Amino acid sequence: MSFEELGLVPELLSAVKKQGYTEPTPIQLRAIPKVLEGRDILAGAQTGTGKTAAFTLPMLQLLSSKESNARGRAVRALVLTPTRELAAQVGESVATYGKGMHLNSTIVYGGVGINPQKQKLRQGVDILVATPGRLLDHAGQKTVNLSKVEILVLDEADRMLDMGFIHDIKRILKLLPSKRQNLLFSATYSKEIKRLADGLLHNPELIEVTPRNTATELVTQVVHPVGKTRKRELLSKLITDGNWSQVLVFTRTKHGANKLAKQLTTDGVSATAIHGNKSQSARTKALADFKKGAVRTLVATDIAARGLDIDSLPHVVNFELPHVPEDYVHRIGRTGRAGVEGRALSLVSSEERGQLSSIQRLLGRKIEVERIPGFYENDTPSTPGTEKHLPFGERRFKKTSGDQNRRNKYGGKDNARGRKSSRSR
Ligand code: AMP
Repeated sequence: MSFEELGLVPELLSAVKKQGYTEPTPIQLRAIPKVLEGRDILAGAQTGTGKTAAFTLPMLQLLSSKESNARGRAVRALVLTPTRELAAQVGESVATYGKGMHLNSTIVYGGVGINPQKQKLRQGVDILVATPGRLLDHAGQKTVNLSKVEILVLDEADRMLDMGFIHDIKRILKLLPSKRQNLLFSATYSKEIKRLADGLLHNPELIEVTPRNTATELVTQVVHPVGKTRKRELLSKLITDGNWSQVLVFTRTKHGANKLAKQLTTDGVSATAIHGNKSQSARTKALADFKKGAVRTLVATDIAARGLDIDSLPHVVNFELPHVPEDYVHRIGRTGRAGVEGRALSLVSSEERGQLSSIQRLLGRKIEVERIPGFYENDTPSTPGTEKHLPFGERRFKKTSGDQNRRNKYGGKDNARGRKSSRSR
């Protein structure tokens, strides 16, 4: 189906053409007609799916086709984003697609002077892209009028919740008129997202375009089986031998992150930790050091990492697998961005087989197993016939001959070729 068939007006069709888009992406195909109908939307879509255009194009069309009931300077469409970077990106898309639509837009976020933003808002803005904190500053100073908002978009809502914006969002919602169209985009669904959606959306159209795992095609995923107590040693070796200059390592706990960063430093691999117990300034410094290459390794917990904007990391390591399989997808999504290939390695001990199975179930496939000689649990001496020597997912061979055992032990790639195997649980 083409953009024309989606019912977009000529101005938008030519904007899309100018961008070089020849056909709509799946989220655009599903969302654009529904938004144009005025429906609320709950969309599961990650960055890279074309989600920005999926809400921006129909939003522009609706605003330009309807007579504004907003007198003066009231905002007609509000897009909330978790980060400044995303706000800037979305604001840019609004401006690009909306050229020739006679609608005004602006972006407000924190960390920069508020006065130029006030001036823009005073001039009158149809579409406002904002991060929650700064928007509330404006609301508090009465420099923005949200009482006429017709369309509300929450972009990357899961990230907003992870970053602790729920109270800000609730305060913002109170400033909006109750009758409006709501579009909620989130890469993942959690209880919190469901609660937010339930309180916000009216009979929403549910759209999930990418199963949460497909944005990861550019990521080479590998499992290194290793005993729990030898993970750190293996990690140091991988970083050193591979001469990795930038690696993001995930641990499950804050304490674990601190401990690992210290140990890596002792091993001669510069490292710093980032997690919720650290002050904002300590986190900012850790991230800045990592970005500029002053430290090679950033050890992070899931929550801390969600708020990070780090582009195209070459290496992500799961020092411990997450308990929630979706977090695995989030973690590895930190690499393989912007068309750059990345590697995601998981150091998996036998205790974590259950978690690995759940992750593989979510992905719909097995992750390649690669054994690092000398690091696999019970690597030597080998005990033929024990399950421990089998690659993950190969546990149906409860008893193996010596030959099978050897092949399994060194031929981890068997797994990737999808050899028939039963679930390990
Ligand atoms: P997003 O998921 O909104 O961050 O978009 C990801 C990238 O896809 C952006 O660089 C867009 O410019 C691009 N994009 C959006 N829609 C299309 C399309 N229909 N065809 C090709 N590229 C697109």
